[in-house]
Amino acid sequence: PGPFLSVRDLSVQFSTEDGVVHAVDDLSFDLEKGTTLGIVGESGSGKSVSNLSILGLHDPSYTTISGEIWLEDRELVGADRRTMEKLRGDKVAMIFQDPLTSLSPYHSIGRQISEVYRKHKGASKAEARARAIEMLERVGIPHAKTRVDDYPHQFSGGMRQRVMIAMSLVCDPDLLIADEPTTALDVTVQAQILDLLKDLQQDFGTSIILITHDLGVVAKTAHNVLVMYAGRAIEQGSVQQVLREPHHPYTWGLLGSMPKLTSNVDLPLLPVRGTPPSLLNPPSGCPFHPRCDYRELVGSDLCATERPELSPAEGHRDACYLTLAQKREIFNGKIKER
Ligand code: SF4
Ligand code: MG
Repeated sequence: PGPFLSVRDLSVQFSTEDGVVHAVDDLSFDLEKGTTLGIVGESGSGKSVSNLSILGLHDPSYTTISGEIWLEDRELVGADRRTMEKLRGDKVAMIFQDPLTSLSPYHSIGRQISEVYRKHKGASKAEARARAIEMLERVGIPHAKTRVDDYPHQFSGGMRQRVMIAMSLVCDPDLLIADEPTTALDVTVQAQILDLLKDLQQDFGTSIILITHDLGVVAKTAHNVLVMYAGRAIEQGSVQQVLREPHHPYTWGLLGSMPKLTSNVDLPLLPVRGTPPSLLNPPSGCPFHPRCDYRELVGSDLCATERPELSPAEGHRDACYLTLAQKREIFNGKIKER
């Protein structure tokens, strides 16, 4: 059998009043069962959109999707609405930055968690309530037996994210998509939530796609990483490979968001200079070329005219024309020391 989740040549375009937005361009990745893939990029890099299409949450009237998304033996790009609705919550679940956007303020958390469970598992009310309490205990909500009847606003931000995680895992999904799940939380709570996700992954065997702009979160949580820029994958590999010795100049820039949670990589804060690209009118050639300090090293105007492909075919891959020797020399000699 192939990987648990396999995305092949995925492209997503939106029609807007201003033109066609190329949100995802020719994206391919695999996710192995029980592992975490970190998808990293600035906002507008296409990292969220690619995952919404996995869930079928796009509006087909103004979205064009091509390519394939295989979840085990199911192909999701062409799947009908009913199939996707059955998958969501049961096989695939999602958590967002702000749980208040997904939790209803009008119902107790117990009722909301129970309803998901009843809908997908056909459980009785009593069974579903017991399951809700069990899940709240599992995610570390104190006094779960009484708090099950509380409403979302009665919880702190961190506790609310725990409730959201309990709700997303209540049906024991195979795949959890977590979109900036800790961005709104302070550093201590953030670390607790990431630890919780890791523990739950071990217990439930869940595969996780973790979407973030923060390489520190990836370092702490993920097995593999995919760096996106302008809707494209520009670097991918194991967390060890990519964070120890990143190859792409954009990833060097992103290292600026790291030091908070990592102790093994020690780099000062360093914002990526320049502005993120427009997805309405993506740059020609290498999408990073307007912001790149190294294009003179490549010579000719290759960077501005020809799109670099990801290479090599497997392992630690990146899309940049610098030679491997140049990438190593620059990173080890200059970037690492900054
Ligand atoms: Fe910079 Fe050229 Fe590499 Fe793009 S291909 S990252 S412009 S050196
Ligand atoms: Mg996003």
